[in-house]
Amino acid sequence: MLIALDDTDGNDGGCTTHLMLHILSDLGLDVKGYPRLVRLNPNIPFKTRGNAALCVEVGISRGAKTKIGEYGGKPIFSSNIVDDISDYDHIADAAWKIVLLEANLKDEKTNPGMIIARERPDTSYYFHTVRSVVLIDDALRNIRDMGMVYRSAKNGRGLIGALAALSWPAGKSTYEMILYSFPHPKHLAKKLQKKIANLANTFHGTFNNYDDENRHAAIFPSPRTPVLCGVRTTDPVGILDFPTQVASGFPVRFTGYLLYQTNQATDDHYQESFESFEDLSSYAFNAIVTSLPEVIKGGHWFLSFFYKGKEYKAAIFEPSKSMRLIVKDIQVGDYVKLFGSFIEGKINIEKVSIIERSRVFIRSNPTCPECGSRMQNAGRNSFRCSACPYHSMLPAYTEIKRSLGRNIYEAPVAGRRHLVASMREEP
Ligand code: ATP
Repeated sequence: MLIALDDTDGNDGGCTTHLMLHILSDLGLDVKGYPRLVRLNPNIPFKTRGNAALCVEVGISRGAKTKIGEYGGKPIFSSNIVDDISDYDHIADAAWKIVLLEANLKDEKTNPGMIIARERPDTSYYFHTVRSVVLIDDALRNIRDMGMVYRSAKNGRGLIGALAALSWPAGKSTYEMILYSFPHPKHLAKKLQKKIANLANTFHGTFNNYDDENRHAAIFPSPRTPVLCGVRTTDPVGILDFPTQVASGFPVRFTGYLLYQTNQATDDHYQESFESFEDLSSYAFNAIVTSLPEVIKGGHWFLSFFYKGKEYKAAIFEPSKSMRLIVKDIQVGDYVKLFGSFIEGKINIEKVSIIERSRVFIRSNPTCPECGSRMQNAGRNSFRCSACPYHSMLPAYTEIKRSLGRNIYEAPVAGRRHLVASMREEP
């Protein structure tokens, strides 16, 4: 049995992952594989924070099981083989009761949706929802056509995310170990946060633990949610001992934890083959720079580029260290791969790969071939030496050394979107 859930929290706290943890612990069911934390279109205006939806396959385990979480003192186990549960409506009612108790229904942004299904629907639902905008009426029609059991409250928009999470194929994936402190974690001193991020660094496969550029322990999110910290990794087995080591090594209390399989750092939101840019979608494409960057108040930069014979604008917001190098030395004619979201008619750049740099020359007066001194202007495109009777019609051109390398330029860890993969480090 698959349970998918979305849109249970609002601006003043809560988190759909915490609600899923609560459901798993209350129902006392085992998880097949790992619960899935699926990030969807990062440009959707209805999102509260990171546009996450959840899906978990549950049942009664047969054979070996591994502890992947804990809540209220109860362990949560994962197994490769689980027997299905026959009474879908019973589970739907029990899970929905918890959703209605915990969801932040007073918040106008909270519109929960839950689906209970036997099979995963076609992956196109996922790819469409991570890359474009989906209408609730379309999602609902598909859910009904497939005969799925579902529950929804208010405008039920969460069904869009639930359907997408259900259909995520988990082809490319990473993992995140989330530790919770319900209702809200106590604020931890920066020094302690750094020590815990350093501990996370010692676990094989972890990434994005600490942002050196901003001196920020990136595993600690905003304190308005029940999430104490989240450690991202490519190694799900290696991270299992992290909660025990935090509990034994630091004066930190947490009320539960759970390991998720995620589509974070997979670049899944980028469309690579497309006809034209659509608002609120994200793209990865090759382009030619057609203007030098210009800065506006607030430190945001804009430049233009050519794509398929048309000129567009791109924005680099508050350039970070790495992005600042771009704005310092990107040149007209550079051939680049841009990764970003198309919003209000321009591409908001998330990362840039420099494929080929254009050669840039500065024009100057030539030197005299007789005496070697710099010649003076003698009219348009005409030069003369003041010491020798020498004239020339040819200016000198000197190639300038580019500081921008044929590299990847991307935001630092703290400014990176969940779905964006770093191209310079694991994974
Ligand atoms: P949190 O990360 O704290 O769980 P959130 O940022 O995930 O919060 P939600 O509260 O889940 O935000 O709100 C996002 C809403 O947008 C959900 O109702 C979801 O179904 C919907 N949604 C997600 N992707 C799309 C899309 N591509 N088109 C239309 N609606 C979408």
